Amino acid sequence: MPERDVIVVGGGLAGLASAVALTEAGFHVTLLESRPRLGGRASSIVDAATGTVIDNCQHVSMGCCVNFQKLCRLTGTSDLFAVEPELHFIARDGKRNRLRNLGLPAPAHLAISFAAISYLSWRDKLSLARGVRALVLGKAPESGRFSDWLADQRQSRELIERFWTVVLVSALGESLDRIDFQYARQVFVQGFLRHRDAWQVHLLTIPLGEFYDRHLARWLKGRGAVVECKAGVAELELSADEQRVAAVHLRDGRRLAAEEFVLATAQDRADALLPMVVKQSHPFAGLSGLETAPITSVHLWLDRELTPLRHAVLVDRVGQWVFNRTAILRDASSPGEFAYQVVISNSRAVRDAFQTPQANGSQQQLIDTIWRELREIWPEAASARVLHARAITEHRAVFSVLPGIEHLRPPQQTPLINLQLAGDYTQTGWPATMEGAVRSGFLAAGNILQHQAEQHPDSPSTALLAPEMPAGWLARLLFGSRC
Ligand SMILES: Cc1cc2nc3c(=O)[nH]c(=O)nc-3n(C[C@H](O)[C@H](O)[C@H](O)COP(=O)(O)OP(=O)(O)OC[C@H]3O[C@@H](n4cnc5c(N)ncnc54)[C@H](O)[C@@H]3O)c2cc1C
Repeated sequence: MPERDVIVVGGGLAGLASAVALTEAGFHVTLLESRPRLGGRASSIVDAATGTVIDNCQHVSMGCCVNFQKLCRLTGTSDLFAVEPELHFIARDGKRNRLRNLGLPAPAHLAISFAAISYLSWRDKLSLARGVRALVLGKAPESGRFSDWLADQRQSRELIERFWTVVLVSALGESLDRIDFQYARQVFVQGFLRHRDAWQVHLLTIPLGEFYDRHLARWLKGRGAVVECKAGVAELELSADEQRVAAVHLRDGRRLAAEEFVLATAQDRADALLPMVVKQSHPFAGLSGLETAPITSVHLWLDRELTPLRHAVLVDRVGQWVFNRTAILRDASSPGEFAYQVVISNSRAVRDAFQTPQANGSQQQLIDTIWRELREIWPEAASARVLHARAITEHRAVFSVLPGIEHLRPPQQTPLINLQLAGDYTQTGWPATMEGAVRSGFLAAGNILQHQAEQHPDSPSTALLAPEMPAGWLARLLFGSRC
């Protein structure tokens, strides 16, 4: 079988996943990334003030992210991740609640920890149990605002703020009135109820940039792929009959031809690059209708340890998750420095209050607010000095999982036979996550393999997606096919 050329445009996780899968299948891949670095929205940057490399924002994966794990297995990087054996929820009064598996089968595995949560009343806990049951087994609206469903279920304000919001805003990056019921249901079923290890948080122990450059890019290059940064694509050239893509034109004037193409940019760039012949057809016309939500991270460098915990989920606070970067990273920051990152998903309110010039606020006010919250939680660290701090807001961090969004998400296969889309926003069934991005990359690569299999019956298997975690026996017994 002749080696076929594929061009992948975009070096985020979607592009990297399709490049890895296609290289593995014997294609000659050229990956083109417009920025000087790989990783897209999940990447490292250099902090200008200190010259240190930091991740734009802490990224976490979960046990249920089976395709992201497959990408790591394929590239020999699985051992770069640490699995958190428990989750720490810190109540307003500073009390630490540990969520852990006490040996019971799913979906009961976390029930004992939930029953012991200090910041929910018994009434709310019972109401929560009823709510979770209805979420899985109740008559499910095909689509609809999750906040409306919560109101129908008579979940109290405290329960909504301290439980549903805490879990869903960090998982989906949106406010509950902008989350579709089906996505909320999926978070609970796939992340918490189906399998006893699905909820576990996986943390990368090296900076994201190193993960791409020293591992994924090296893996690709070692197998003959070309990986080029600062190689922005300006245009896709169509064949004379407008049935195929013939080549890409780079911003530096080069023209590169190939047999297959994967456009793995975020949706706004895809919308700008897609030929009119594609954009005229449904659902590719809907890309500009996808809305997005911001995520803000506050980075703090302290002169002493705040907490030895690697992570903590903050309840009733502006900051939502704290990550102890010094403890997470294998090669931590300089001696005598302790680095923490506080993540705020769906940070519109924070951005508007603190970070726009019109709001009469400043980045410093947000940093001060976060630092005050951390000292309230860990008063023993009150004497710590902030050596350096900065806030980063990714304004289009994730696409909003609004009701009706499924109609706007395009499939990977475009009407042009040799052009695939990849990106978290395409039809993957998942929200904007690393897992969703990798799934899209595998699905795009699978379509290309499928075309090849139609021409060459001896081609490798086209089934690239990893199998889902199987539902545990008790989950099957209680929820049947709904789980
Ligand atoms: C602050 C933040 C926190 C997040 N936290 C988490 C988390 O904890 N867990 C999780 O699973 N997910 C998280 N996400 C979501 C996750 O980062 C994204 O879903 C995922 O990285 C998207 O990958 P992608 O490849 O689809 O798109 P992108 O990462 O956007 O990649 C697209 C790439 O295409 C490149 N490109 C664009 N135009 C061109 C062009 N013309 N030519 C060549 N290249 C081009 C871009 O530079 C970019 O590198 C977070 C996102 C953000 C922003």
